[in-house]
Amino acid sequence: MTTSKPSSKRPSGPERPPAPLVLADVGAAWVGPAGARGLVHGVDVVVEDGRVRAVGPAAPRPGGARVLDASRWIVLPGMVNAHHHLNQQLTRTLVPAGSIDDWLAAAYPRWSLVDARTAWAGARAGLAELVLTGVTTVGDLSYYFPRGHADVFDAQVEAAAEIGCRMVAARGGLRDAGPAVRRRVGDLVDATIESPDFLLAELDRVFRGYHDPADDAMVKVAVGLTEPLWDEPDLMRELSAFARSRDLRMHTHLHPRPSDHEATGGDVVARLSELGWWGPDVWVAHGTRLDARERAAMAADGVALATCPSSNARLATPIAPAWALHREGGVVALGVDGAASNDGGDFLLECRLAWQVQRIAGGPAASGLLPEVVLDWATAGGARALGWPGLGELRPGGLADLACFDVSGLDFAGVTDLLAGLVLCGISHRAETVIVGGRVVVEDRHLVSADEDEIARTAHRHAKALRDGAREAGL
Ligand SMILES: [Zn+2]
Repeated sequence: MTTSKPSSKRPSGPERPPAPLVLADVGAAWVGPAGARGLVHGVDVVVEDGRVRAVGPAAPRPGGARVLDASRWIVLPGMVNAHHHLNQQLTRTLVPAGSIDDWLAAAYPRWSLVDARTAWAGARAGLAELVLTGVTTVGDLSYYFPRGHADVFDAQVEAAAEIGCRMVAARGGLRDAGPAVRRRVGDLVDATIESPDFLLAELDRVFRGYHDPADDAMVKVAVGLTEPLWDEPDLMRELSAFARSRDLRMHTHLHPRPSDHEATGGDVVARLSELGWWGPDVWVAHGTRLDARERAAMAADGVALATCPSSNARLATPIAPAWALHREGGVVALGVDGAASNDGGDFLLECRLAWQVQRIAGGPAASGLLPEVVLDWATAGGARALGWPGLGELRPGGLADLACFDVSGLDFAGVTDLLAGLVLCGISHRAETVIVGGRVVVEDRHLVSADEDEIARTAHRHAKALRDGAREAGL
């Protein structure tokens, strides 16, 4: 394992297929296709060639299988974080009590110093945290490639290969950072803005280099935007045409703000449709100000929402109407939004907060909002948002992405509803075992593929360098 810098080669993944696995005598497994799943007890889950081969009380065990005692575990399909920013990992806890503009103005000087080495160090730390809390697929949106460091993208893909998780890597780009940030960061922003030609060339490069359309892929590429209403309609249409001609998904932030309504004559959906950024191949993050008409359009047209409650709370934005969208037939997923605006990367904590804030927003009338609804968002909802069938479900024939939590300890004492306990209880959200494509990536609550202490040390060193570098540059 390299500890100094990422290589430039394409990650090829582990070379040898993993041995078959048997999760024996499972305490509880959340089995079945989304919408029709339930807990089963005392079964074996048999994994071979990256897939779940059988779930049952007397399932045949393949020769040479490794047997894991799962009697104290609840086993879920691996969770899907549908919105993240890996290259913001090393700027946590900035301006915790300021406005979004204050926070961006503090973050951009440090983000402007990120290069491939820093991005790799941050991405490993971020991905490690996510995987350790049960995430097996991360949807990342990178839109900031400072000073020509387009290889930040490559470094993050390499980090995912090293940690062992799947990734949907949305390649965005920056055309403008907005007047508030520009006032405070000035020329540094100019130095990071990419031309339309360069942006399209980079998209083509990463598409050819990394995108795998297979259902058992480790990396898929998507087309990203940081905000969907650029003043460059032709470029937005070109980006959409690029995505649709290659069957890639599109991803962006959408709040929408009052200024977005103003800019679109009050009809954000019509404008996005006209620009090619609306439809079942689009998923958006946040949706904090979606009105009833916009929610109806999302539900009707299959535009998925990745709700990010910690980030929304941190930046004091409204609670996204995720439960309302769900009830109206929309697709809801869950996102962490990166460790800059979240500060953490604990996905079960994100599940808990999602449930809690939706309770606040819905009030006592939100009686159908059971904790497993949020687990649906965190699994099958994420798979639908990322357009990746097979993720987020534990079923025979499905991908062997599994998150196993030990529910025998103190933090679950007194729990009579395991799915609710997983969301509502817990003093430590570390998964006991995490499996991605049949390969064990977390065991005994620690990473198998990488040294957590080394990852943390390297991340600390790079975070400090960003802080000091920004200070030395007078930012
Ligand atoms: Zn975001």
